[in-house]
Order: sequence, then structure tokens, then C-alpha cells
Amino acid sequence: MKFATKAIHEGVEPDSATGAIMTPIYQTSTYVQDGVGNHKGYEYSRTLNPTRHALEKNIAAIENGNYGACFGSGLAAIDCVIKMLNPGDEVISTNDLYGGSYRIFKTIFEKYGLVFHFVDMTDLSKIQEKINERTRLIWVETPTNPMMNIIDIEAVAVLAKQCGAILCVDNTFATPYLQTPLDLGADIVMHSVTKYLGGHSDVVMGALVTKEESLAMEIYRIQNSSGAVAGPMDSFLVLRGIKTLHLRMDRHCENGEKVAHFLKDHPRIDKVYWPGFPSHPNHEVASKQMRGFGGMISFTLKGNRLEDALRIVKNVRVFSLAESLGGVESLIGHPATMTHASIPKEEREKSGVVDSLIRLSVGVEDVSDLIEDLRYALD
Ligand SMILES: *Cc1c(COP(=O)(O)O)cnc(C)c1O
Repeated sequence: MKFATKAIHEGVEPDSATGAIMTPIYQTSTYVQDGVGNHKGYEYSRTLNPTRHALEKNIAAIENGNYGACFGSGLAAIDCVIKMLNPGDEVISTNDLYGGSYRIFKTIFEKYGLVFHFVDMTDLSKIQEKINERTRLIWVETPTNPMMNIIDIEAVAVLAKQCGAILCVDNTFATPYLQTPLDLGADIVMHSVTKYLGGHSDVVMGALVTKEESLAMEIYRIQNSSGAVAGPMDSFLVLRGIKTLHLRMDRHCENGEKVAHFLKDHPRIDKVYWPGFPSHPNHEVASKQMRGFGGMISFTLKGNRLEDALRIVKNVRVFSLAESLGGVESLIGHPATMTHASIPKEEREKSGVVDSLIRLSVGVEDVSDLIEDLRYALD
């Protein structure tokens, strides 16, 4: 089946009791058994809940995997992957990582004896330098936030296989509509479902998908043992969101491209970071592994003045000043004072997060309104 058909139908069966075409919200903690051990596949909702189960099957299908697991947030999904490791194990990750991922690695898991390396993964030799016999996990995020660097998943998968490490890809920015890491050799895909999969800024949720049974059993064991599961109401909302993922992503890509070109031509703009430009340093890799370039764009202003950036994010009227991304509505953010404020100035500027950097999550509104809004704020 093709993507759009899977997004709408996979995991979703008409309700056996009533024929309801939408999966009911099974707002229940437990299930009555006919006799001891004689149940219908559901015993307790931490372990398995029918609404969550439908969503887990659906997300697994659209990522071209066999097993899905949904968590209370993207970070709870990351937490599950790291709990598969043992003290002394080493992890190699990108130096341009989502801040929350960096924080859980450094402040939660380092004290349990895990070792994390952060390298520029657009340079494969930097990964190779850190590989040793204790390397157990390679953690890739691509495109990265907010600099929109692209990492070659297929090439990193070869390195992971060589050293016997698990490769996990955070696919939040691209979504399975634009990029399917399992097809490129990744072992696990992770999502902040909060963003594009949910798509309507009304849910916080995470997910993991894998093809391999042994990894899946370990994920389900930790999901049930640690207990950070997604709830039935949220699962229902995300099932509904995913039905339009392909439509939304087409529009995000279309609007993103137009906004990126508008910004590139504007006299006040210095740099525009968007992987669709042939001048983007990783454009070739992006074209190879992605089916579109998405709606995430970052840009800097000529003169690089903080007050100019702050005035622009304050003067937009259609864009909303907010953290997060991936919803139908357009958002604007200022990484240096918002998402990356906790990183020392020198360090963040080294990775490109300068004072005038502005990040857009381009939504699915009429693009002429979005461009007019930016033009007004820039002028
Ligand atoms: C938001 C985000 C996360 C964390 O997910 P939550 O749902 O907020 O816990 C992880 N990775 C990326 C790329 C994100 O954008």
C-alpha cells in the first residue's frame, strides 16, 4: 500500500462491538476476564490499550516498520531507548541536537555510567574517531534544529553495522512522509509525535518504531516497566491527525519553499537555512534521503543585531511567537533567547545560533498571507 492509504487505514478496524468506523477512545484501565488468563488480549492499560494499540500499529506501518510503541512524550521515548543500555556503554550523537535530548543524555543518564559523545555528524570521520568496542548506540537527528544540517542516514548505518551498534534516528522534523530511516538501515525510529504527526498542537506524545522483533520486545518490556505510556484520548487525537499527514506535509513543503525563496531575496536577510537550496552544504544528501524539504526554515539578519530579531518576532501577526513546531499554524521562534538560552553564548554561536537567528515552522495557511506577514515585520 502507498503512504496515504496506510496513513488512513493501517491499524484502524471498525469497532467490533458497534461498527464505529473511528477507533473508540477506550478510556479504561482494566479489562474483565472470563476466567483466570482468559482475556481478549488486553489485561491492563499500561501494558496495552486498544486505542493506543491501533495508533502503535498505524505509526509502525507509515514508518515501514513492524512494531510501534507510543509514550507520554518524545522524551519518554528517548528515555526508553537509553534504558536498553548498560553502564559503561557509549553513545555517539550529533553536536547539533534537540536541547531536551542533550539534557536527558547529560543530566539524567551520564550519572548511570553511560558515556555520550557529541560530534559533527555531517563529517563521517568525526563519528569514526569516537567508535570503539563500547559503542552501543548511534543517535542521529536529521534535519537538525535549528541549523537544518542534514546527516547521511545510510552512511551512518554502515558505520553502525560495522561496530554492532544500534542506530536510532529522531525523525521528528522530516516525518515518515518525507523520510523513512528504517529503509536506509536504521534500527529504531524515534518521534516527538507532539509535532507533525499530531499536527494540531494539541497533544504531547512520543513514539518508537522498529522492524526487529528482539528490539521491539525490549522496547515493550521497558515501556511497560517504566510506564510512560500514551493515554487513550491522546492516541485518538493522533490517529485523527495522521490521517491528513500527507496532505499537511505537501502544503508545509510547498509553503516552506515559497517562504524560503522570499527570505533569500529580501535585502535585510543574511543567511537562509533550508535544505532545499542547491547552495545548502548538505543539499545532495537531503535530495537523496528525503522526498521533500519540509516547512522548517531558519534565517539570520544583516548586521546580526539582537534587537532587530526581537522586533521581528514581536511584529508578526499571522505567525505566533512560540516554542514547538509542526502544527497547522505557523510559528516563529528566537533560538538564542528561547530554545537555546541555556547554552553559553560562545558555544551556541559556534554551532550557528547567533543573536539574529530566527526559526520558522511554516504552517499550512495561505502562503501569500505568511509572506505578507514576514514582509511587514521585516520592513
Ligand atoms: C520536541 C522534540 C523532541 C522532544 O519531544 P517532546 O514530545 O517535546 O518530549 C525531541 N526531538 C525533537 C527533534 C523535537 O523537536
